[in-house]
Amino acid sequence: MEFIDLRTQQVAIKDDLDHRIAKVLAHGQYIMGPEVLELEKLLADYVGVSDCVTVASGTEGLLIALMALGIGPGDEVITSPFTFIATAEAIVLVGATPVFVDVNPLTCNIEPSLIEQHITPATKAIIPVSLYGQPADMREINRIAARHGLPVIEDAAQSFGATYNGGRSCGLTTVGVTSFFPSKPLGCYGDGGAVFTNDDELARAIREIRIHGQSARYVHTRVGVGGRMDTLQCAILLAKWRRFDWELRSRSSIAESYRTRINSEVMGAGELAASEACRPLPGVRILPSVLNCTSVYAQFTILTPERDEAVRQLKLAGIPTAVHYPAPINEQPAYASASSGNEITPVSSWLAKHVLSIPMGPDLSEDDQEAVVASLARLAASPKFVL
Ligand SMILES: *Cc1c(COP(=O)(O)O)cnc(C)c1O
Repeated sequence: MEFIDLRTQQVAIKDDLDHRIAKVLAHGQYIMGPEVLELEKLLADYVGVSDCVTVASGTEGLLIALMALGIGPGDEVITSPFTFIATAEAIVLVGATPVFVDVNPLTCNIEPSLIEQHITPATKAIIPVSLYGQPADMREINRIAARHGLPVIEDAAQSFGATYNGGRSCGLTTVGVTSFFPSKPLGCYGDGGAVFTNDDELARAIREIRIHGQSARYVHTRVGVGGRMDTLQCAILLAKWRRFDWELRSRSSIAESYRTRINSEVMGAGELAASEACRPLPGVRILPSVLNCTSVYAQFTILTPERDEAVRQLKLAGIPTAVHYPAPINEQPAYASASSGNEITPVSSWLAKHVLSIPMGPDLSEDDQEAVVASLARLAASPKFVL
């Protein structure tokens, strides 16, 4: 069993892929070819914003968004510490200081009620992360941001396709940034990403910064980066697009089936309650679904006591797992000193010790789902797995 199966998808779209790739090889416009604009138009319409700008990767997208907003040395940016390193990396790379605000234990996304106390005159933006494929609580975050005149950048690297109050992830805030890394819900066959906005000025800045700050050929209006996405990668996403809606429905039904089965077949399992955060876990816990959101399940993540033992036992049973993420960013060596240094993030630290992602993907077979749940059930019943 693979943690994420990309092969079945490839077989299903092989003809479209071959056709799309052959077209690019024939026209030869490997950089900024027609597929780039075609994809940008399609994705902007899907998200429901005026502009989509494809970029070299999600990380590059975050960097470009921050540059376009003019964020730099002396500025503070509020973000979640419970995320992939790139979120904070982009902030540090522009010379700003990340300010880590703890997350909500039930969503693993930034806790809105903790944001305001961290806003200072130096605060210039908020970057909520829509972790595991589920949007952060954007209405609350936008409300706080508006009160302080701050832009909000959604790190939507894991949540492209998800919805919040009917709106699409990437279009919920000032700017949305996603990633097309191969294992993301919409992934290409290399690095890629996109930045979304409804703000014309900002869109122009993002487009220019992506190509060396160029406003016309060899006219460099601002400092930029080499941040384009290849035509070939755009063509690959166009080939994948026809299957994407089906894939999201499949992810969602697999997640539902995981929930039902884990609840009924794994001894002591249940949905995590807020009151259980930062305490010893009595058994396997599922993150509850949030009413006004849909998730694209970039990961299906459970919480387990004795996580290391769980990883070992599942591996022995042939079940691959992953830990997203083993430490909050403010506890990472390079970032402990880059941050403002006075963050207290007990929920993130606790989650980092208990989260475990199990195999997930639109093509995860019924047999594989059963095998995963059966292994979790055996684990929960074993004496070595101290509950
Ligand atoms: C994957 C990811 C990124 C970075 O995307 P790349 O395309 O790999 O650069 C940023 N933030 C989060 C939350 C991610 O999961």
